[in-house]
Amino acid sequence: MQNYDYLVVGAGLFGATFAYEAAKRGKRVKVIEKDDHIAGHIYTKEVDGIQVHEFGAHIFHTSNKKTWSFIQQFAEFNRYTNQPVANYKGKMYNMPFNMNTFSEMWGVRTPAEAKAKIDEQRQVMDGKKPENLEEQAISLVGTDIYEKLIKGYTQKQWGRECKDLPAFIIRRLPVRYIYDNNYFNDLYQGIPIGGYTQIVEKMLDSDLIDVELNTDFLANKEQYLNDYPKVVYTGTIDGFYDYQLGTLEYRGLKFETKEFDMDNYQGNAVINYTDAETPWTRIIEHKWFEFGKGNKDKTIVTREYPHTWKRGDEPYYPVNDQRNNDLFKQYRDLSKQDPNVLFGGRLGLYKYYNMDQVIEACENLVHRELDKD
Ligand code: UDP
Repeated sequence: MQNYDYLVVGAGLFGATFAYEAAKRGKRVKVIEKDDHIAGHIYTKEVDGIQVHEFGAHIFHTSNKKTWSFIQQFAEFNRYTNQPVANYKGKMYNMPFNMNTFSEMWGVRTPAEAKAKIDEQRQVMDGKKPENLEEQAISLVGTDIYEKLIKGYTQKQWGRECKDLPAFIIRRLPVRYIYDNNYFNDLYQGIPIGGYTQIVEKMLDSDLIDVELNTDFLANKEQYLNDYPKVVYTGTIDGFYDYQLGTLEYRGLKFETKEFDMDNYQGNAVINYTDAETPWTRIIEHKWFEFGKGNKDKTIVTREYPHTWKRGDEPYYPVNDQRNNDLFKQYRDLSKQDPNVLFGGRLGLYKYYNMDQVIEACENLVHRELDKD
């Protein structure tokens, strides 16, 4: 015990990246994880030769060449390109918002025709600078696309009105005046052949790293803080401080997974249901992340239902509105009293990070913490 340099709390992507980098520099690391598996929310499990994304679809994408090279040390990536399709009341639209979508929506054929249509519809904004998700969406793509492809989905996803959500959420999605259904603008994109769990497994595979599952840090917090010189904590920061300043809000998710005796259920890895009435936001058909690999007579399908999160539920999406961001800042200030605890990951930093951003944030910490001399 005395020999460990770091205790890492949480065996997800942030914790594993830190442990890997620390061990590479000769540090001894203990990793504890409250769940019975490593890899956090990027955990994938093989069923009938199909990699099932147990905690929702994860598509790796980045424009950072260093991050792309880094992740490829741990798996070979395929050429999967995310091209979700939206189902609005039975009519199918290509995503993200591009010439295919505009053509399906309005019958337009050229970028000039699409721009004219969107310009006409964004007049309702009257030149106003967008201040929330609704205004941002309308000023990007007009009222029709907002009503059919954004409004219902977003309200289900976040459990609140688009007017009450920050604009940045919708800016995650590209708007393109070319016929290109690629959901991401990043230079590099793919799915690890054989799933994500192997990545974390390989990161943690070192004589200098010990991993203990089913272990709750908070149940013995003082003891752990006493026993280890430094702690990298990837759980919720408000949980670490026993919610003493208030509770940071998250959006919860429930997954309903079914296996069907058929080869092809929906013809795409991801179909979004963008009306307000359908209770799920999307259906994932896992085999299409790996081009149909696995049992040809079976397919595995997951419906994703967002739900109201309460303390004790599994947190998925941070709700980065003003109130929560301000509260997070207060926790950040409070954490200055614990210089030996380093917070990281989606939960520790309360950020809507993609996987590449998690790695980048961790590499920044590694640089500050381990490469400082
Ligand atoms: N979104 C939408 N319609 C869609 C897909 C996404 O309005 O069909 C909006 C919604 O507000 C969502 C945001 O875009 O929260 C970001 O979507 P993304 O696919 O990046 O979310 P994630 O995959 O992280 O859940």
